Amino acid sequence: MRSTMHRQPQSKRRSRAVATFLLATVSVAVFCAGCTTVDGTSTADGADGFCLDDESRADTTFTWVVAHQVVDGELAEVCTGEANETVERAWQILSDLTPPAQLNDLAVFAGYEPNGAEASDTLAFVSSADEQGSVFQMAVNIAAANESQDEFTLTMAHEFSHVFNSTPNQLDRTVGPDACQTYYNGEGCHIEDALMVDWVDRFWPQWIDTFDPFADQADNESDGETRCIRDRGFFGSYAASTPEEDFAESFSAFVLRVEALTDEQQDRLDWFEQFPGMVEFRDRAIERGYGPQPHEFNECGLR
Ligand SMILES: [Zn+2]
Repeated sequence: MRSTMHRQPQSKRRSRAVATFLLATVSVAVFCAGCTTVDGTSTADGADGFCLDDESRADTTFTWVVAHQVVDGELAEVCTGEANETVERAWQILSDLTPPAQLNDLAVFAGYEPNGAEASDTLAFVSSADEQGSVFQMAVNIAAANESQDEFTLTMAHEFSHVFNSTPNQLDRTVGPDACQTYYNGEGCHIEDALMVDWVDRFWPQWIDTFDPFADQADNESDGETRCIRDRGFFGSYAASTPEEDFAESFSAFVLRVEALTDEQQDRLDWFEQFPGMVEFRDRAIERGYGPQPHEFNECGLR
């Protein structure tokens, strides 16, 4: 999901009863087409003292339960609210799946109780904490996190992809839609070598012209239903709502070893194999006993 501010895509999985998630931040890994290694340098060095941003605090659809600072990739002291077991468990899953060097760019990890239907549908979200998108905060829906461990785990992987696709080495927020020669996602223009540029070229050639980066989420989801019925590659209709959600849902399926139901879905899973940095997430999941998970994405495109 995208909003007019600097909030990053949010995760919603309406097709399933549950929810999960988080967000995080990582400004680091250099994932690029053709790269064979991942550079784990962190760019998050100015986050000391930062807690939840004012925009998040002012949003009345969320009741903030706790926010932790993240220091050197580790969950640090509570900076607002009170410690919460579910949020700590969420962090455990995120840090189990995510290479430590990448966690380093997350500045805040928080948990909230949703107020209202829309907030309830949001499993987690990631937002950038500065204009450059070099520091991120991740927030988890505590009520949703308590519903399903599998769903929650998928969501963690999903959300983290929003982080590594939004760092300055992937997304240039200084380039507007008219000047963007690659793929403009509503927040910025992806650099030429960005993962999302390759993803869109590979999986969205027939759909990208039907996608409006400035449309609201409801319209994107409605369009996604249509795209999903006509394309057997999407892991559910939510994936078909935007290229980012397609990437995020597919990445979660890859990391948690969800079996593809079509050749087109398998093509998506296979795409990740070329990036050692992505494979590392899956290897960590295997080592720590996560997955394989059943395919529970809705099957709108399968006939
Ligand atoms: Zn998402």
